[in-house]
Amino acid sequence: MNTIKNLSEFANKRYGQNFLKNDAIIKQIIQSIPNDDLRVAEIGPGLGDLTKELVLTRNVTAFEVDKRLCEHLQRLFCDSIDDETLEINCGDVLKQWEDNLLLNEPYHLVANLPYYIATNIILKALKDENCQSILVMVQKEVAQKFSANSGEKAFSGLSVLTQTVGYGELLFDVGAENFVPPPKVTSSILLIRKKRSEDNSDFEEFLKVAFKQPRKKLSKNLATHYNRDKIEALLQELEVSLTIRPHEAETSMYHHLYNELNKDNIDERAKQQSSKRANS
Ligand code: SAM
Repeated sequence: MNTIKNLSEFANKRYGQNFLKNDAIIKQIIQSIPNDDLRVAEIGPGLGDLTKELVLTRNVTAFEVDKRLCEHLQRLFCDSIDDETLEINCGDVLKQWEDNLLLNEPYHLVANLPYYIATNIILKALKDENCQSILVMVQKEVAQKFSANSGEKAFSGLSVLTQTVGYGELLFDVGAENFVPPPKVTSSILLIRKKRSEDNSDFEEFLKVAFKQPRKKLSKNLATHYNRDKIEALLQELEVSLTIRPHEAETSMYHHLYNELNKDNIDERAKQQSSKRANS
C-alpha cells in the first residue's frame, strides 16, 4: 500500500495484524487450495497480498474488520470489485457469522487468520455446511491441535472434532521473519478437508470434560460427570486399558462413549424433537 510508510507502526495489535510478506509462501498457499471452481472466503485480507493472488483464479468474498484496511482494499481492488470477482465486507466476521451464513453457497475458507480468534473461526467453519475446506495460517500449536492423530501428544478435543467431519493436515511451518511486524510465535499452514459438517454443542462439551486434564486418565476426567462403573464397563467393552489417557483414545471411541454415556439424554431429546415436529 503506497500510503502506508511504516507497516510496523501501522499494524494494529488489537486486530492481530501481522502481514505476510513472502511471495513464495503466498504462492504455496494458493497451490494448496482444492482445485475446483468454488468461491473462496478470505477472512482478514489485510493489505491484500494474498487476495491479489486469489482473484487471479477465483471468485472471492473477503471480510475485514479494520476500516482503514477496508478503504485501502476498496481502492486497490476497484477493478475486481467492478467485475464482481471480489466482494469486500467491512466489519467483524464473527458478528456477520452469528447473524447470517458466512456465504450462502459452497466455499473454501482461505486465510492468514487473526490469531486471537483463530480457534473460534475454525470451529465455526467445521460446523458450516457450506464450508468445504479450511486452509489457514494459524499459530503452530493450534494447527497441531486440529490436525493431530490419536496417540500423538497434541491429540485433543479439536482433533476429534476435525476427524468427525474430515481430515486435518499441518502442511508446513512459517517462521516469524516472514511477517511485518513479526509475531512472537511460529505459524503453520493447516488444511482441513471436510467430508461433511456437524454442529453438536453437547458433543463439544463432552470433549471438554474428556480432555479437561489431558495427562490424567480418561476415566478420571469422565468420572467428574458420569458414573465411574459405567465408564469402566464401556472401556472394557471397547477392549482398551482402564488407564488410557485422553490423547490415546480414537475418535470413534469418543463417539461411542458419548452416545452410551448420554443415552438417556439423547433418547429424551429425540422424543422431544419428534413431539415438537408432530405439534407443529
Ligand atoms: N491476510 C493478510 C496477510 O496475510 O498479510 C493479513 C493477515 S493478519 C494476520 C489478520 C487480518 O485479520 C488483519 O487484516 C485484521 O485486521 C483482520 N481481522 C482481525 N479481526 C477480524 C475480525 N473479527 N473480522 C474480520 N477481520 C479481522
